[in-house]
Amino acid sequence: MREESFDVIVIGSGFAGLRAALSARQQGADVLVLEKMRTVGGNSVISDGGMAAAGTSFQKHLGIEDSPSLMAKDILRAGGEGCREELVRIVAEESVKAFAWAKDVLGVPFRKEVELFGGHSVPRSHSPEGLPSGRPYIKRMEERCEEQGVDIRKAHYVKRFLADKDRMSGVECAPSYRFNAPPPETVTRFLAKRGIVVASGGFAADIPYRRLFDKRLDVSIDTTNKASATGEILRAAKDVGAALSGMEDVQLAPWTSPEEAGFGDGPLFADYVALPLGILVGKDSAERFVNELADRRIVAEAILAREEEVVAIADHEALTSINRDIGKALAKHVVRKYPDLAVLAKEEGIPEDELLQTVRRFNKFVGEKNDRDFQKPLTNENRPIATPPFYAMRIRPKTHHTMGGLAIDAKARVLNERGQPIKGLYAAGEACGGIHGISRLGSVAITDCLVFGEIAGKSAAQAA
Ligand SMILES: Cc1cc2nc3c(=O)[nH]c(=O)nc-3n(C[C@H](O)[C@H](O)[C@H](O)COP(=O)(O)OP(=O)(O)OC[C@H]3O[C@@H](n4cnc5c(N)ncnc54)[C@H](O)[C@@H]3O)c2cc1C
Repeated sequence: MREESFDVIVIGSGFAGLRAALSARQQGADVLVLEKMRTVGGNSVISDGGMAAAGTSFQKHLGIEDSPSLMAKDILRAGGEGCREELVRIVAEESVKAFAWAKDVLGVPFRKEVELFGGHSVPRSHSPEGLPSGRPYIKRMEERCEEQGVDIRKAHYVKRFLADKDRMSGVECAPSYRFNAPPPETVTRFLAKRGIVVASGGFAADIPYRRLFDKRLDVSIDTTNKASATGEILRAAKDVGAALSGMEDVQLAPWTSPEEAGFGDGPLFADYVALPLGILVGKDSAERFVNELADRRIVAEAILAREEEVVAIADHEALTSINRDIGKALAKHVVRKYPDLAVLAKEEGIPEDELLQTVRRFNKFVGEKNDRDFQKPLTNENRPIATPPFYAMRIRPKTHHTMGGLAIDAKARVLNERGQPIKGLYAAGEACGGIHGISRLGSVAITDCLVFGEIAGKSAAQAA
């Protein structure tokens, strides 16, 4: 059997894996990244690239007062008891440094606007210029890995961990892997002299695995993730004694369309325009039923509890104030444009009088800056839904993020069932549990991946 040896082995080439690889390399380690797919980037590269950071110069320039303690408070409020406070505080406290690394070291060009996502107290989500995408980060991270001599092997499927007494010493890997085919029998052993970093991402696309933890998540629920977001590494880590936490906490996106597959183009309208500035209504009742800016779990559960379809509605003023191009979603008819609300109601099958009444009531709340029905935060950004044309999109939640995963400590060491670190094993990113609890706030995953990626790479490289 072929065998090769490195100081540090990283499993996965998304935000967490590439950040860990660069961090370990900076410590002088020789680093191997194993990626099962033929391209790097995992879910990271298809993400929107929005990154939360508290106290940036961009926020200060816009007069937004923020702090790591407020960010930690928001994460803890949404995530509840499933959050390990120590880990949450690290993410929040390191967020500005991680953002500065992305901006200044990687050179990701960020928009000057800072956005407010559901569950955050203030605008703190920073997005790359152009269409929302994680690609600018991944492209630059891959280039830096190349410049710095990090060895990235694609189509290498990690099957299991190898142990030497009580220390994880390497992995068994099937090279020449083709996605969706059984992994080849022939394996290569990669040995890690210092440490292995698990950065294999989440399992939102792994229907049998996610159903073990939440029976509702069967094939009828689509996912925003790449089909490769599966849980074999979590299973393999459990086999060698790693503890998993929060596995039942699977996030459903409350801004996806049943009229297109996967993440699609609709979220650009629903997430960025309709939820903050418009409304969600039941298709049969025409009623609002939730604070559209509550965290994702609250909104998604409220949608699933309706015995009717749900439609997101916003007007032209909302769309222009957000300054996002929803042309693709309109061209696909996932988002539809109407000259007035009566036509919108007729075409979408919503009772007209009831819809007009709902909109009038919401507009009154906007004028008073007080949503008496659902306590949606209404600010100067919110305007009455009154300026044609009007836009509508059907909403059906899809699995989006898995908050559960490997239990880690503040040094990103993977813990066993007794809460003790497993020697030689580290983890970062969506493969970990315990940070986001029952509900991850939008744009905090990238921060988490970059912060804990750096810590995991450093810890692994410095291990004896
Ligand atoms: C459509 C979409 C939009 C999003 N937008 C945002 C956003 O704007 N802001 C935000 O904060 N979060 C966002 N998220 C969430 C965020 O992108 C993810 O949580 C994050 O990218 C996870 O990064 P990661 O490095 O942990 O995993 P990934 O990026 O998924 O990388 C894991 C890698 O490990 C590889 N791998 C898995 N198993 C094996 C194996 N057995 N052997 C070898 N390799 C393996 C995978 O192929 C993959 O490439 C979004 C998610 C999606 C799906």
